[in-house]
Amino acid sequence: MSFSALGLHPTLLATLESLQYQQPTDIQREAIPEVLANHDVMAGAQTGTGKTASFVLPLIHRLLSAPLENQIHGLILTPTRELAQQVHQSVLRYAQDTEVKSVVAYGGASINPQLSALQAGCHILVATPGRLLELLMKGLIDVSQLHTLVLDEADRMLDMGFIIDIQRILKKLPNEKQTLFFSATFNDEVFTLSKSLLRQPKLIEVSQRNTRVDKIEQRIYSLDKDKKSAFISYLIGSKNWQQVLIFTRTKQGADELAKEMLKDGIKAQAIHGDKSQGARDKALQAFKNGEVRALVATDVAARGLDIEALGYVINHELPYNAEDYIHRIGRTGRAGEAGLAISLVCEKERYLLTDIEKLLDESFICQWYPGFEPRQDQQTGKPSRAPSKKTLRAKALGQSRGNKHKNRRR
Ligand code: AMP
Repeated sequence: MSFSALGLHPTLLATLESLQYQQPTDIQREAIPEVLANHDVMAGAQTGTGKTASFVLPLIHRLLSAPLENQIHGLILTPTRELAQQVHQSVLRYAQDTEVKSVVAYGGASINPQLSALQAGCHILVATPGRLLELLMKGLIDVSQLHTLVLDEADRMLDMGFIIDIQRILKKLPNEKQTLFFSATFNDEVFTLSKSLLRQPKLIEVSQRNTRVDKIEQRIYSLDKDKKSAFISYLIGSKNWQQVLIFTRTKQGADELAKEMLKDGIKAQAIHGDKSQGARDKALQAFKNGEVRALVATDVAARGLDIEALGYVINHELPYNAEDYIHRIGRTGRAGEAGLAISLVCEKERYLLTDIEKLLDESFICQWYPGFEPRQDQQTGKPSRAPSKKTLRAKALGQSRGNKHKNRRR
């Protein structure tokens, strides 16, 4: 199917051609007609599927199909500043040949430049909940003509405790509007929120719910906690990986790991909520243009980062929330590319791996890496021994054995 078959405005079709988008992705093919038909939508789609264009293109299309008035027509809510900036960049990209104006507003930065941008004209506002609420409460924006509200990464917004802010925002928005709800994962809380927001929504799922994205090879290495940073430096150096995103659970852990890696000669930088927006932008830019080889991030800071062709993700520790594992590994294997996700698991983290296996309905084989074998057998507490033939075979075949708790070694 081509983009023209979706009925998009000719200006948008020309832009998409210049961007060399040959055909819509699954989410775009399914969501765009529903959004254009003014339906509410509830979509299960992760970053990397092309979901942003699936709501941004119809928003621009509608603005091009009527006289352009200086009103906020579309409002896109995102959980983090990084995602807000990224979505804003996408709007700028898709609207590059039009008069449609987009503004991004987020907290942790001065409100004044954002107000100036709003005063210069805004058709599509991309915002994080806190800053949007501030703008609404102080009467600094007029949303009376709002046509479409998009909640992007709704699951993460709930994880980050934005529910009260969202409820307060909703009270300030017109009742009559189209609502588009995007979430990578679904649980009871997400469903409850969606129910309160959506009217007879069209349900769209492009990858099975709560599962990892395809094309990602997952490798689990058992090793001692104190060897993790040396192992990461060794892997990156010996394999000559150029662009690696590494997750840590804490901000302090991210800083410490980046420092250790620098000592090992790997150019690394940490990105997390305690860093100023400027420092985060700089680190991300340096990573994107190859000056920095390893970006060490916490879950919140890394959420939604769009980095082209990211080949490698490493989990320094497993996340406490199994669903975060899906988000983390979703940073690789993007836009149809193959990716490798490596998780380092010490004995104390085994229960977290079990949670992930349950969520994915998949069982992993923990491998040992020569030279980094755990001091103790992590299953039995006995002194370490060589991996079994089964483990070695799985390793040679490329690790995770899908499928239903066969070959489980634990
Ligand atoms: P998203 O999931 O919206 O973050 O998009 C992931 C990446 O896919 C972005 O870099 C987009 O520019 C790119 N992309 C989105 N739609 C298409 C398409 N139809 N063809 C090729 N690339 C696309």
